[in-house]
Amino acid sequence: MPELPEVETIKLQLEKYLKGKKITSIEVRNRKIFQGDEKKLIGGKVINIRRFGKVTTIDLSNGYSILTHVKLTGQYIYRGPEIKNEILSKKVIGGIPGPHTHVIFKFDKGVLYYNDVRRFGWVKVVKTSEVETEPLIKKLGPEPFKDLTSNLFSQILSKSGRPIKLVLMDQKMLGGVGNIYANDALWLAKINPKRKSKELTKDEQQELYKAILDVLKSGLKYGGASELAFVTPDGKEGEYQKHTLAYGNEGKLCQRCKKEKIKKFFLGGRGTYFCSSCQK
Ligand SMILES: [Zn+2]
Repeated sequence: MPELPEVETIKLQLEKYLKGKKITSIEVRNRKIFQGDEKKLIGGKVINIRRFGKVTTIDLSNGYSILTHVKLTGQYIYRGPEIKNEILSKKVIGGIPGPHTHVIFKFDKGVLYYNDVRRFGWVKVVKTSEVETEPLIKKLGPEPFKDLTSNLFSQILSKSGRPIKLVLMDQKMLGGVGNIYANDALWLAKINPKRKSKELTKDEQQELYKAILDVLKSGLKYGGASELAFVTPDGKEGEYQKHTLAYGNEGKLCQRCKKEKIKKFFLGGRGTYFCSSCQK
């Protein structure tokens, strides 16, 4: 599922392509994905794009916002005067518009397609004034690069007896970190994913805090990870999957100690990758 770097990359590109443009029509092809009345959005001009954890909002000049979560396989693809015949990633199965296109937003200049093969993602019409009271946003924990500080991070970790990896991925504890970046941050900080969160030492907490910021920055630099269906609104893929530290590297020699191979096991149902020699 897209995490902070992927959703931030979507946000930045939507900002670039949509800001100042007016919605002229919306075609909803799949009602299960779209909640609310799309007519309320017509005529609204895009004034702002915001990200809350893995949720994105497109705020309009008429007091309404489009709230959206791409979940596992959702894709936003833009085409307009700035990008017409650019290459479209093969991950956009069926093309645009195609059998997996569920919503088409038309602007005075340009079109935004929402594609989703698995259809777990959603689009919701809400009043802009009510965005921050949406349960998913209200319950969101502090976020790296936003309101998370190293002190706050230590406090969060000290409160839980669950395995540290599960705490990092819990959106109510910490916003934006998912499986890929949790695996890599723990590898970078040399911490075993199974360790009990509250048993980390102060030094380990600080190492992990820094590691989280480092892997997220790296994710942002490469435009996110396109391991599943993630594509950027310009129709291209992110490159972070080629630069992971531990994630997806099962059976490969650890890049740091060069002694052990990365092992994989399941923790809380998610693939967990670690080096048994460096991560204690
Ligand atoms: Zn190692």
